[in-house]
Formats: sequence, C-alpha cells, structure tokens
Amino acid sequence: MNKGAFDSRRRLATPLSKLVVLSLFIFGWLVSTAPAQDSQPSAVLFEDVRVFDGKSAGLSGPTNVLVRGNKIEKISTAPIPLDRTSNTRIINGGGRTLMPGLIDMHWHTMFVRPSHSEVLVWDLGYANLVAGAEATDTLMRGFTTVRDMGGPSFGLKRAIDDGVVSGPRIFPSGAVITITGGHGDFRQLFEVPRILGSPLTRMEQQGASMVADSPDEVRVRVREQLMLGATQIKLTAGGGVASPHSPLDVSTFTEPELHAAVEAAENWGTYVTVHAYTPTSIQRAIAAGVKCIEHGQLMDEPTARLMAERGIWLSTQPFPDEIAKAFPPNSQEHAKALEVIAGTDKTYTLAKKYKLKTAFGTDILFSQSQATQQGAMLAGLVRWYTPAETLAMATGTNAQLLTMSGNRNPYAGKLGVVDEGALADLLLVDGNPLENIQLIAEPARNFVVIMKDGKIYKNIVPEVSTRR
Ligand SMILES: [Zn+2]
Repeated sequence: MNKGAFDSRRRLATPLSKLVVLSLFIFGWLVSTAPAQDSQPSAVLFEDVRVFDGKSAGLSGPTNVLVRGNKIEKISTAPIPLDRTSNTRIINGGGRTLMPGLIDMHWHTMFVRPSHSEVLVWDLGYANLVAGAEATDTLMRGFTTVRDMGGPSFGLKRAIDDGVVSGPRIFPSGAVITITGGHGDFRQLFEVPRILGSPLTRMEQQGASMVADSPDEVRVRVREQLMLGATQIKLTAGGGVASPHSPLDVSTFTEPELHAAVEAAENWGTYVTVHAYTPTSIQRAIAAGVKCIEHGQLMDEPTARLMAERGIWLSTQPFPDEIAKAFPPNSQEHAKALEVIAGTDKTYTLAKKYKLKTAFGTDILFSQSQATQQGAMLAGLVRWYTPAETLAMATGTNAQLLTMSGNRNPYAGKLGVVDEGALADLLLVDGNPLENIQLIAEPARNFVVIMKDGKIYKNIVPEVSTRR
C-alpha cells in the first residue's frame, strides 16, 4: 500500500470512527436518561413513611403507600398485604417524608440554558437536545410537572411522554403572543415596520413568540398554538424587564384583543394567562376574561381586591436579586428589574391579605446555574408562608390551577396530592421538610426517591427485598 492510499484511508477512518463513538455516546445517553421500562416493578410499596399530602398543615403518622401502575392505589396505617402475582418493589421509608412531586407553574423548558443572546440564533435541533438534558435535571430536582409559559416545547413534551428522554410533565403554552413592541417582541429596530403578510421573523419561525396587532391576528395566533397542542394560552398584557422595547408601565393589548384570545381559548375549553405587573394591565386583562395573572409585582390594593372578588389566579415568584445583576448597572433593564423585585413583598402581603388563589413558578431564564436554585427559590417563600403552606402551594394548589386546562390537560388523573387514585408523582425526602424547608433546596442529597407516573427515576434507599 503506498503512503498516499494509507493516509487517505486513515483520513476516512478517523471521522468514521468518531461518528461511531459519537453515536454510541448518544445512544448511551438516551438509554441512561430514559426510564428503564423493563426494570420497573408493576407495583411499589412505600413502607413506614410519613405523608405530606399536598394540602395539610402537617405530616401523617407512620403510613404505607402502595403504587400500582401510574396511580396511588392504597394509603393505610395498617400493613398493606401484597398481591403475590405482581412484581412489587418494597421501599423501606424508615420514617422519611413522602410528598407529591413539585410543580413549577412558570417555566420555559426551551430557554433555561441558552444565554439571552444565543436564544434567537441557535440551531433548533441543538436547542431541543439541550432542553432535553435540562428537562432531565429538572426532574432530578423533584419537579415532576412544569407549566411552560412560552417557547416551542411541543416536541420536547412528546419526547418525554414517549419515554425518549426523562423529564417532567409539560403543560405547554407554545409561543408567547405579544404586540409590536410588547414584552416578547425581541426584534431589532431595523425590522420595523412589519408588512402584514410578510415572512415570519426568526422568533416567530422558532415558535418562541408571535406578534399580533388586532383581534383577528390574535385569534389566528391563539388557534395555531391550540392546534399545536397548547394546554393554555399566554399573552403579554404589559411591559417586561428583559424586553428591549417595552417600558414596565405600558399596557399592551387592547381589551378587544385580549378578549379575542379568551374567546378562542374558551372555545377549546381552556384559559388565557397574561404576563402583567401593573394595576392597569391586570385590570384590563380581567375585564377581558383572563383567568390568571403571571407576576403581578406592581399591583395595588384595589387590584388585589378585584382579583379576589373574581377568583383570578396569581401565579408569581420571589425574583432573586441576581436577575437585576444580570443587566449592566444604569441600564434600563437593571432599573426595571429593581422595580419589580421591590414590589415582591407588597404583592405577597396583598395575596395573603385578600386570600388570592396563589400559584408558584420560578420563571428562571437563560441560566443553567440559576436553574439549580429552582428548589431554593421555592424555599424562599417561607418569608411569607409556613413551610407547609409553601409546599402545598407548589403541589396541591399549583395542580388546581393546572385543572383549568380542562380537556386540554394531557395527563388524565389528579396531580399534586398524595391521595388514593391520584397520579403517582412522588418524592421521598430524607427528613421532614416541614421542620427544615431547606431540604428541598438540595434535591441531589435529600430526595432519595423520585417517582413520576409510577416509574422510579431515582432510588438511593438501600433495597430491602423484592417480593413476587
Ligand atoms: Zn416567563
């Protein structure tokens, strides 16, 4: 063999072998993060656990909980006899706490890891793989369900539901719907004016956000998201912190525009939620029939009273100071972030005073390291709530808001509670989170079992026995 032929063959062999190694790696990654379907027992018995049921102020006494298939079959203080014909795994709880999987009501599955500048320019195939890896991490933090508040998450949701990649249940909104210049309009100034009927912008092609400037346009965009599988619809009713062209004080959609979205969503048996901080934007949304307000940090007392009277949900979060630090000092975005953060205490105080139906969601964006603080952000609610109230909000209460998706809810069964007949999304916590809420801030160490839909995704409790 002459040297030239050898070299060319080696040149050929190297990329080929790399491809083989890469495909083995990808295959191995899929296998290790997907649920091990074959090794799953048909029933799981948690023995000697104390139950936080997602609603109560305290833990139960020593209890046994039997999961069969994807549901909780039996909860009993007496021993639960085992069916000899089924393959049951016994987990010795040793007095640890069994609680419902956590729910994050304001999550952006596709936008957790990319930086703000990457998000509109990166390849969507790559973005989906990164979002899949983040979804696995999200589940491993004990968040078994997320409500996606904007972004092209339909493919990821399907991959998770099909067992291709492990991750939480997703209630997708699809693209955020905004007005020209509103929160979520990330176009550059040179892209204005838009000619009606012109090709879609990059953010619209990706399904990240859609611009709509009339009731008719809103209807089209809402119906498109519903066709794609949205479980609820998200509009931005006022200005936002991170958007380049929307001051915080502005109200964006008109009432007829908001109403067009509400009508289209209600025709599909579901609801509209809006991003809104200010009293005007919140009140206008409520007048148009919107059922849920995201954030609300600049609300006032009459607005809180109106929300209470109408039974409107508040889905909010205590934003950490880091979100302001993410913007250059003296920038408009920095000032806007400080203004929103300053409103947090007042909003939670009003929410408690008027007993608002209050849900919890983190809204962590553009930061993988911030995402590791998902549980810590929840634990931060003890500034206003007891640990039991905090955990009930992120489980049973959040699940009540999810039921507003009606027939668009893709997951038949009860979420967010430990009840007989409920879906088996469960965490076994090494300790009592009602005494030490900080346990939920360190999920890797303290969540010793993570179960979703009856399947065990993590179990580091020493095995006692497996009975048939
Ligand atoms: Zn958001």
